[in-house]
Amino acid sequence: MSIKTIFITGGVLSSLGKGVTAASLGFLLERMGLKIALIKLDPYLNIDPGTMNPYEHGEVYVTDDGSETDLDLGHYHRFTNSPLSKISNATSGQIYNEVIQNERRGKYLGRDVQVVPHITDTIKQRIKDCGKQEDGIDIVLVELGGTVGDIESSPFLEAAKQYYSERKDSTFFIHLTYLPFLATTKEIKTKPTQHSVQELQRAGVFPDFIFCRTSHPMTKEHKEKIAINCSVDVSCVFEISDIKGSIYKAPLHLYNEGILDSLANKLHLKKAPLDLSSWKMMIESIENPLGTVKIAVVGKYIEFDDAYKCIYESLLHSAASASVSLEVVKVNSENIDDLEEKLSGVQGVLIPGGFGNRGVEGKIIAASYCRQRKIPYFGICLGMQALCISFARDVLNMDADSSELNPNCASPVISLLSEQEDVVDLGGTMRLGAYPCKLNKNSKAYEAYQTEFISERHRHRYEFDSRYKDQFEANGCKITGVHPELGLVEIVEITDHPWMVGVQFHPEFLSKPDKPHPLFSAFVNASLKHVPNNEPVYEYQG
Ligand code: GLN
Repeated sequence: MSIKTIFITGGVLSSLGKGVTAASLGFLLERMGLKIALIKLDPYLNIDPGTMNPYEHGEVYVTDDGSETDLDLGHYHRFTNSPLSKISNATSGQIYNEVIQNERRGKYLGRDVQVVPHITDTIKQRIKDCGKQEDGIDIVLVELGGTVGDIESSPFLEAAKQYYSERKDSTFFIHLTYLPFLATTKEIKTKPTQHSVQELQRAGVFPDFIFCRTSHPMTKEHKEKIAINCSVDVSCVFEISDIKGSIYKAPLHLYNEGILDSLANKLHLKKAPLDLSSWKMMIESIENPLGTVKIAVVGKYIEFDDAYKCIYESLLHSAASASVSLEVVKVNSENIDDLEEKLSGVQGVLIPGGFGNRGVEGKIIAASYCRQRKIPYFGICLGMQALCISFARDVLNMDADSSELNPNCASPVISLLSEQEDVVDLGGTMRLGAYPCKLNKNSKAYEAYQTEFISERHRHRYEFDSRYKDQFEANGCKITGVHPELGLVEIVEITDHPWMVGVQFHPEFLSKPDKPHPLFSAFVNASLKHVPNNEPVYEYQG
């Protein structure tokens, strides 16, 4: 079978859940026994989201090959087994950069370099590459970021149109739109969808399916109206109702709407019975918990859920597998004056990654607080560095800091990686992607992973300075994971503590709802054992 391609475009509004919809379709197609690959096309001019503010763009998802990519790839990872690498996310910035570099090298010698055909050809090539990254890919799902009608999207729509005209039998389009509910007349309206589809058709793209996000049920008449005005069969207009409860119900919603059947007919796919039982069981345990675990996340982007998306999802996966619900207490690390009050009733504290000075002192103080009160603590990247700085200050009496935060401090227990010394550019230059790590067999990390060699993804410039290793170990902070050849410190643990672990890498990129990450599970299990409030204070308080 030749590779089939499904484009997913969005209309009317942004934030309709195109990423989750694409991932959910991928999930269902995989359950039919097909091999899928997902790609996200982002119309912005940045090369990647790596240099963007998380408030602007949400979290950056890092792949094994060290690409800094859109957060939708996190959905792809959690719902599907799609290969994910630098091939899986293309931005206008990357496309234009490639064309301009080719022009400088003389690839288009003697010709004008233009959006059509040079930019559009490069976009089409990226989609073709996505289908070639592994043998046996049956279907490529292309999520087009942005909203139809945006100036930036037009080269991508033009490329999609051309892609279709070159492969009419194997290219399909899904348009995800929104039906607003008018409170005054108490009805949902289809007009914005009609206009959005017309805009798409003007660009030469004719959707095969229209998915309508709506907060209120659609009637047959709504579907007929959209069908007749948008030139699609009424059987190809689907209601995508808002999901109540777990986001992991999204594929089941699509399935129950009969979308897979219609898709299988249109794409001439062999229908096969789907086994959704284990997925349904996972949702059962999310929705019918036997208890609760209360975890505080202390960070500076706390008001914006997308900034720590994978962290929250990973905690949820582990809580569900322990049959408890997750209650997250969001603590802004810039404002921790009443930390005791904020952490009251909390069974565990997680400090995620971050950059720059803002809010770091709050993270360091929170790390001290958890160590002294023996509250389970999970430090990720900057959260691990905060653990080390707090330990050095309180226990080793050092004037300690990270040289990122205070370049002139007396004891830079966290300092610049030597490979970073000559780095000037900010984009794509960190220590990125998967690196191996060897675990000390006598450690909480080993207890969690149950294996000596692991691989985890990184995104940082600073590291634990090995000159301080002996002092740390002699006083109760053990190095329990290192890069096997380079000796870089990857994991630290406080020995006299129920569970205080810091990792320089980002385990949150690997957790799946049906395969929680072992470190998150170990942290959640330790937190479940913690009885909060009135914790006695141990050791010297700095
Ligand atoms: N800013 C720190 C570093 O670059 C931590 C990075 C992170 O938390 N991702 O090392």
